[in-house]
Amino acid sequence: MGYTPELKELIAKIEETRPVRLAKRLAPKRIVAYREQKGSFRDVRDLLKVKGFSKELLDEISEQVSVKDEEGKINLNTADAQDLNLIDGIGYYRAMTMDERNLVLEKFHPDYKKEGRRELLVGASKGDVTPDEFADQIEAHSSILDVEIDLEDIAYDVDVLVIGGGGAGSAAALTASEQLEGKGKVLMVTKLRHGDANTVMAEGGIQAADKPQDNPVIHFLDVIGGGHFSNDHKLVAALTKDAPVVIQWLEKLGVMFTKDDEGVMSTLHGGGTTRKRMHSAGDMTGAEMMRTLRDEIRNRPEIEVVEFAPAVELLKDEEGRCAGAVLRNLETDEYTIVRAKATILATGGIGRLHIQGFATTNHYGATADGLVLGYRAGARLRFMDSIQYHPTGTAFPEQIVGQLITEKVRGLGAEPINIDGWDFVFPKEPRDVESSAIMRECLENGKGVTTPTGRVGVWLDSPMIEELQGPGTIKKELPAKYKQFMRFGIDITREPMLVFPTLHYQNGGLWIDTSTATGVPGLFAAGEVAGGIHGRNRLMGNSLLDITVFGRRAGRFSVDYIREMGELGKLTLSHVAKFEEEMKSANIETERTSPMLLPDYRYTTG
Ligand SMILES: Cc1cc2nc3c(=O)[nH]c(=O)nc-3n(C[C@H](O)[C@H](O)[C@H](O)COP(=O)(O)OP(=O)(O)OC[C@H]3O[C@@H](n4cnc5c(N)ncnc54)[C@H](O)[C@@H]3O)c2cc1C
Repeated sequence: MGYTPELKELIAKIEETRPVRLAKRLAPKRIVAYREQKGSFRDVRDLLKVKGFSKELLDEISEQVSVKDEEGKINLNTADAQDLNLIDGIGYYRAMTMDERNLVLEKFHPDYKKEGRRELLVGASKGDVTPDEFADQIEAHSSILDVEIDLEDIAYDVDVLVIGGGGAGSAAALTASEQLEGKGKVLMVTKLRHGDANTVMAEGGIQAADKPQDNPVIHFLDVIGGGHFSNDHKLVAALTKDAPVVIQWLEKLGVMFTKDDEGVMSTLHGGGTTRKRMHSAGDMTGAEMMRTLRDEIRNRPEIEVVEFAPAVELLKDEEGRCAGAVLRNLETDEYTIVRAKATILATGGIGRLHIQGFATTNHYGATADGLVLGYRAGARLRFMDSIQYHPTGTAFPEQIVGQLITEKVRGLGAEPINIDGWDFVFPKEPRDVESSAIMRECLENGKGVTTPTGRVGVWLDSPMIEELQGPGTIKKELPAKYKQFMRFGIDITREPMLVFPTLHYQNGGLWIDTSTATGVPGLFAAGEVAGGIHGRNRLMGNSLLDITVFGRRAGRFSVDYIREMGELGKLTLSHVAKFEEEMKSANIETERTSPMLLPDYRYTTG
C-alpha cells in the first residue's frame, strides 16, 4: 500500500523544491506589501528585511522574479510582478498567451487531431465529425434485431417515461409527477441502481447567480465565453435565468449546501467565473444532490422506479411519435415493453467509450446509450466532436486510475510538478489547455513520472495546500479526496498525487430547444445526453445546474405536450428497420451492436 520505494524517491525531489516554490509563490505578495510600505527597493539587501525568507531563498527568487536596473540593482516593481503573473501568488508560471495556448492545444489535445475521428455516414447528422469510438456506436446494428418482441404485450402503460436515474432523470420525474397532479403515471427506468450515475460523483459544485454582486446576465456572458462563443444562446439564457430558482428548489427539497457562520450559502469561484457563484456541499455536491432527489422520489409512490432495466430501443407510434421503449432486464435478459405518451432521455455521458484510449472519471454505465437510441429515432446531434478531458485524473494507484481530482485542489494551491520536482504550467489554465500542457510535459518533454504499471503522469503537489492555507485545510475542504487516497495508504496532506488528463465530459449531445424537445415528437432530452448549452467547452459547476434546469423543464414540457397530443397509435420499431436500410445503403458492414450498456473489461489471451 502507498507509493513504491521508487516513487517515494522521486517524491523526495518535490520535498526539496517545495520550500523554494513556496517562497516564490509567497514572495510577490510579501514583496509588494513591503514595497507599498517602504517605497522602492534599491538593493537586494532590502529584500532580506521581508519577513520569513532566508538569504539563499531570496537570492534565488531575486534572480528569477526581479528586474535589475543598469547598475545591477534590484528594481522590482508591481508591473513586472504582474507581468510574471505573480501578484496573486498563484504560481510561478504565468498564464499562456492565446498563441501559446493554440500551439499546445493543436499539438496535444485529442479534439484537434485528425486521426481517431471520422464523419458519420448515416442518420440526421450525417457528415458530422465525431470520435471513432462514438461513430462505432452509431454505425452499429440494433441489439434487438434478431430478438422476437411482441409489441402488443405491454408491461407498463404510462404518461411519462424517464430513461435514466441520475440527476436530470430524477429532476424530470419529480417535476412531471407534480405537473400531472396525481392524474397520470410517471415511470423511471434505469440501467443500474437509482443514483448509479455521474451525478453522484460530482464534487466541486453548482453555479447560480444568486448573490447581490452577480446576476444571470453576467453568468450568461461567462458561460458563452467559456464555450468559446459556440453555445446556443437561448439554452444559455434558460440555464442562467432558471439557476437561482433551482438552487432554491434543491434547498427546499433538503440539499444541505455549505453555508457561512451566518447561514448564508458559501459561494466560490470556478474556472472561468467572473463572480463567486459556485455553491457546494463540501467536495460531495453531487452525492448530496442525488441523495436528496432519490429520497424525494422514494417518498412519492406515484413515481415508479425500475432498476437494472436499461432501455435498448425507443418505440414510435404509426404517426412517427416517440411512444416508449423496449427494456432489457439485466438479471433475466428478458425484454419488456413500455408504452408512454412522452419519453425523456436522461442517460448521461459517454466516458466509458474511452475515447482515444483515455481513462475516465465517469461511472460504469456512461456508454452513450441515449445518444444511440435518440439518433436511431431521428434526433440530431450537436458538438459531438468536442470532448472534455479533465487535467487531473488519478494516475496512481491503479485501482482508481482516471478518477477525478477536482479543480478545487488546484484552486486551493496545489500545482502540477514534473519528475524533476519543478512546476511547468500555470495551474489555472482552462481545462483543455492545462490538460494539453500536462500531455506535452509527459509525452514530448519526457518529464513525466512512470507508474509501476507503465502509465505516465505528473505530480499534483497537494501538501502545498497545507503550506499555503494552513494545516487541516485538506481534511476540511477535501474530505472525500483525503479519505479516498488514505484507503490506499497515501496521505495527501503529506504526499502528492500522481495525475494525468482523464476523459470527463461530452460537451455535445442530442439537439434540444429550450423546452428540451429533440425534434422527434414526444421525445425530450435533458442533462449530459443533450448538447448545445455549453458549446464546445463546459465550465465547472454548469452541468449540475444544467441537469436540474433542463431536467425540470423536461418534466414540465413533456406534460404540456401530453395534454395536446391525443391518443397514441399502434407501436412500431419501423425507425430501427429504416436505420438498418440506411446503413446498408452506406455500405457499412459490421457485426457491432449497440447500445453498449456496459463496457467489457475482460482481458483475452488470444
Ligand atoms: C467525477 C465527476 C465529477 C463531476 N463534478 C462536477 C461538478 O462539480 N459540477 C458540475 O456541474 N458537474 C460535474 N460533473 C459533471 C456532472 O456531474 C454530470 O455531467 C451530470 O451529473 C450528468 O447528469 P445526468 O443526469 O445527465 O447523467 P447521469 O448522472 O450520469 O445519469 C445518467 C443515468 O442514466 C442511466 N442510463 C444510462 N444508459 C441507460 C439506459 N440505456 N437505460 C436506462 N438508464 C440508462 C445511468 O445508469 C444513470 O443512472 C462531474 C462529473 C464527474 C464524472
